Amino acid sequence: MAAAILDGKALATQIQAELSEEIADFIENNATVPTLAAVLAGDDPASEVYVRNKRQACERVGIDSRLKRLPADVSQDDLLHLIAGLNKDKEVHGILVQLPLPPHVDQTRVLDAISPWKDVDAFHPENVGRLAQGRPRFLPCTPQGILVLLARHEIPVAGRHVVVVGRSDIVGKPLAMMLMQRASPLGRGAANATVTVCHSQTPDLAAMTRQAEVLVVAMGQPRQITAAMVRPGAVVVDVGIHRSASGLAGDVDFESVRAVAGWITPVPGGVGPLTVTMLLRNTLKAAELQVE
Ligand code: NDP
Repeated sequence: MAAAILDGKALATQIQAELSEEIADFIENNATVPTLAAVLAGDDPASEVYVRNKRQACERVGIDSRLKRLPADVSQDDLLHLIAGLNKDKEVHGILVQLPLPPHVDQTRVLDAISPWKDVDAFHPENVGRLAQGRPRFLPCTPQGILVLLARHEIPVAGRHVVVVGRSDIVGKPLAMMLMQRASPLGRGAANATVTVCHSQTPDLAAMTRQAEVLVVAMGQPRQITAAMVRPGAVVVDVGIHRSASGLAGDVDFESVRAVAGWITPVPGGVGPLTVTMLLRNTLKAAELQVE
């Protein structure tokens, strides 16, 4: 039997409707509109699309968004000056710097300059450290979206063997940290996994992925995970996004893997919509923390 679909798009719509109500209550109680500042440097077409999608999502739920557009040749100092101004601006609760930044800019310095209280992507070392210690301020958007997707489908990771393919600072590493915690703000089932993390230096990837009860793939390589690499009945979460002339594809070979998996996320319509939704949730959380 073909795997059941983990429909991230439908779930994102539902969670955004819930968030709209929470945000309306927040505005009424605090006379403050949660506000996200998006910083877009350069003219990378994919970044334009991501920022547009994020701003449209803000508008749907009642978050104010401001776009700070900078030329591709912006100096590092000008960028840091802009961030310093946004950190001080009491009307701005969350700051999002769209990556990648132009190559001459030191990305780490810019991300480290964002106030940890406005760091809605959870990239700041203070927030990464808090996450590692099990006392998170913000949960990073993509890993949070994955765990919410599983939790809302009543798929626990607790006690299960989760294999994560990819160890990036944005997806694989923080997800692995969250999975292995003793407790999660996302519910009882969203922690206490036994976690294996694979990367490009893992000698026999298929031998690892075949052990997974839950397999999360964030390797940035189109259609690399095939049916032979998946344990029958496994839950397969595909984080990858690849644009081609024939449309979007993930890191998983969807058609072949669907025949063996128990659950699978589609691309598009799986993890992506939840990543954006968790950015909205983090912006509300930032506003809540700043009015306290
Ligand atoms: P990175 O390129 O930063 O990291 C890729 C990871 O995969 C690295 O750890 C790399 O290993 C590992 N890897 C690469 N090739 C192999 C291989 N052959 N075998 C095993 N491991 C391998 O990517 P990101 O984590 O930023 O993103 C991953 C994918 O997810 C991309 O397609 C990206 O577009 C997408 N994405 C989607 C999001 C969403 O919302 N749906 C959000 C963020 C990203 P090593 O460390 O050794 O180099």
